[in-house]
Amino acid sequence: MAETDEKASPPVTLVDPIDMSKLDPSFRDDVKSMPNGEELTACFACSTCTAACPIANQWDFKPHQLIRMILLGMREEVLSSREIWECLTCFECQERCPQNVRVTDIFFDCKNLAAEEGYEVPENVLVLGKELVDKGQLYVVTADWEREDLDLEPEVPGLSVEEVEKILKKTRTGRLVGGE
Ligand code: SF4
Ligand code: SF4
Repeated sequence: MAETDEKASPPVTLVDPIDMSKLDPSFRDDVKSMPNGEELTACFACSTCTAACPIANQWDFKPHQLIRMILLGMREEVLSSREIWECLTCFECQERCPQNVRVTDIFFDCKNLAAEEGYEVPENVLVLGKELVDKGQLYVVTADWEREDLDLEPEVPGLSVEEVEKILKKTRTGRLVGGE
C-alpha cells in the first residue's frame, strides 16, 4: 500500500464519548433515595421503555438512555435535558418495565431536582405553575353553559382560591413561580 502524508481520521462514532471526569456518582444516589428510585439500579438496559415510548423517536436521549445516564452519574446532561420536560407522562414505559423501574416517576423526580438545583425550567411549565397558584386550578372543569345545561352551580363548589393559593405558596411549585 502506498504511503501517504495524510493523518488517519479519528474513528467515526455514533455517540459522543462520555467524559468520565464529569460523572457525579452522587446523582444516582440522589435519584435512588427519592420516593420513586427504589428499583432504579435494577435496570438492565433492555430498552423496553424506549420501545413503548410514543415520542422516543423525537428525542436525542431515549428513556433507557436517560435511566442509564442517571446510573452513570450524568447529572448535568440529564437535568438540563429537554426530554425530562417533554415526557408526556403516559406511563407506557413504566407499565412495561420488566424490572419495575418507575421510569415516568423518576423523570418527575428529575424535574424536581432540576428546578431545585437551578437548571432552566421551560416557560410553559412556569406559566402553568403560576396559573395554578393564582386560580387554584389548572383547568376549568366545564364552560359556564355546560354547567348550566347540566343543572350545576355556576362556580365549582368548595373551591377557595385564597386557601389553595395560601397552601401552594408554601410548596416548591409556589416558590418556583414566585410565591413566598
Ligand atoms: S424497561 Fe426497565 S429495565 Fe428495561 S431499560 Fe427501561 S428502565 Fe431499564
Ligand atoms: S411516560 Fe414519558 S418517557 Fe414514558 S413512555 Fe410516556 S412519554 Fe415516553
